[in-house]
Amino acid sequence: MLGQALAEKRMGVEYMRKKIIAGNWKMNKTRGEAASFAKDMAQKTIGADVDVVFCVPYTALDAVADAISGTPVVLGAQNMHFEENGAFTGEISPAMLADFAVKYVIIGHSERREYFNETNETVNKKLKTALAHDFTPIICVGESLEQRSLGITFEHIRTQVKIAFNGISATDAAKTIIAYEPIWAIGTGVTATSQQAEEACAAVRQVIREIYGQATADAVCIQYGGSVTADNAAELFNQPNIDGGLVGGASIKSDFEHIIKG
Ligand code: PEP
Repeated sequence: MLGQALAEKRMGVEYMRKKIIAGNWKMNKTRGEAASFAKDMAQKTIGADVDVVFCVPYTALDAVADAISGTPVVLGAQNMHFEENGAFTGEISPAMLADFAVKYVIIGHSERREYFNETNETVNKKLKTALAHDFTPIICVGESLEQRSLGITFEHIRTQVKIAFNGISATDAAKTIIAYEPIWAIGTGVTATSQQAEEACAAVRQVIREIYGQATADAVCIQYGGSVTADNAAELFNQPNIDGGLVGGASIKSDFEHIIKG
């Protein structure tokens, strides 16, 4: 993964994890729109102190790959099937993504779980496939509003993480990114407070520590996602356990430059 060897300071403390900010463009932008936005935004990321990933629609992968060439931005996809090939109409395989020099892949986004019946078990299969193909997976976990109000947030995200990482080695786990994305914050304009986000990201790191030990917990990148904007990004991303973000709506606007530059 990019940037793991670099130290950075947050709240006066030095961390080995560099921040990674990934834009999830969702189902937005035609090829032309994607290329022109990516070209412009990628230039603005030059010199930024974070790693930047654009997770773009499949149809724009080639255009965006060209547009970001020669810049520090890295290409990501929003989903991937866990099988290598076969009769899976409408799906995309890991080899197809690798063909476009995709390096990152989002796995188990809450929209995939909600609208396309993805489960913790399919997330686990996708994670194994992604790692086998040397993609950096961005595994999404997070609770619904109902789960938060019932007081089962941590229980829920712990279960999601445990099943996602079932059968994954410590070496592989250390290469992953986990995005804590409370469902009630995604696309709603309601952002978790930095305290809520930090507590949940710390809980995710704690599960990784329990499964794999301290070194893996220290290495794994944990992002926050959910209505991140240019106004709230710096505070969220300055928390000890938050190593950047997965950004939806604001990643396809000029705001993204401010999110990246803090
Ligand atoms: C997302 O899609 O992962 C996301 C966090 O969206 P938004 O930033 O729009 O809430």
